Amino acid sequence: MRVVQAYRFALDPTPTQERALRSHAGAARVAFNWGLARVKAVTAQRAAEVTYGLTGDELTPSISWSLYSLRKDWNAAKGTVAPCWAECSKEAFNTGLDRLAQALKDWDDSRKGKRKGKAVGFPRFRSKRKSGLSVRFTTGALRCEEIPNPRYLSCALRKLKRLSRTVSRRHGPDRRTGRRPSNRWRRASAALGKAHGRVADQRKDSLHKLTSRLASEYATIVVEDLNVAGMLRNRRVARHVADASFGEFRRQLGYKAAWHGGRVIVADRWFASSKTCSGCGAVKAKLPLSERTYACAACGLVLDRDVNAARNLAALGRRELAGSGPDSNGRGAGRQTSPGVQVAVKRQPGARKRGQTGTVPTQEGTAA
Ligand SMILES: [Zn+2]
Repeated sequence: MRVVQAYRFALDPTPTQERALRSHAGAARVAFNWGLARVKAVTAQRAAEVTYGLTGDELTPSISWSLYSLRKDWNAAKGTVAPCWAECSKEAFNTGLDRLAQALKDWDDSRKGKRKGKAVGFPRFRSKRKSGLSVRFTTGALRCEEIPNPRYLSCALRKLKRLSRTVSRRHGPDRRTGRRPSNRWRRASAALGKAHGRVADQRKDSLHKLTSRLASEYATIVVEDLNVAGMLRNRRVARHVADASFGEFRRQLGYKAAWHGGRVIVADRWFASSKTCSGCGAVKAKLPLSERTYACAACGLVLDRDVNAARNLAALGRRELAGSGPDSNGRGAGRQTSPGVQVAVKRQPGARKRGQTGTVPTQEGTAA
């Protein structure tokens, strides 16, 4: 089995290196904006020509939005558009053009209904001030020396509050009056951005640790296919869903389980894990999220809502495994696993208090 693995490094560049990195990220932005301007100009030109009554071959030829064509056009134009293009790696320009091709495709797919989730807007020009600095190098050998600096920040929330208060007290930009932000605002807002970035990193770190542990400890993991895009549209649960990084959690579990030879079983969205009684199989018509205990009207079973759902998912996992042969979990024979299915469930948003991981690992025996 072929496994693709990624590594993350923090770089600690010298000032000269930092300047070079910034200039490469800028080059990616320049290529992106150049391509977008061209696409927009051709589209607008054709639209105008149609209103003059021109058709077919009389129109300005349309241009391809593929990365291949964008790159070809860029290479033809770079001498005049960016005379000092040779100072940056071609990878920098390729980054910008690749992003543009992807953004145009996402917009097109979304418009045609081929793309799930929220509607994607037409790509916008990247601002020098607002857009994040990033660039990708996809070919050649990369070497780096990294200096790890793990420092734990426990009072992140308090710090964020304090920093955003500071930002709001400074003179920020105002689009209506054209007021430019003060330097003190810039500094404060940079500090706030940095603190937010750190929280995001910490969240990523704990999510990775959690999924790594689950993937290495359990042979079979059952997760529910929750309608994430749909739930993000529901204001009341949106923050919790986003906070729990659902989609990312499932994605990580998927590939990490594959590394360990385990498997992830996805219970489909319509599987009534919470509403079904794990004792007798009766299904409730309604079960509000606020009801934390499951009480079955048919057999009188009373237990925790999440435990009940976990048992249902475990039963589903057993059925799946039984359906595809006894040895289908992919583990080698020497590996010791307890009989039955081990289930880890990431439950519904809002089910758990903030700060907890939202995981209910339960071990189930063979006898159900
Ligand atoms: Zn029951």
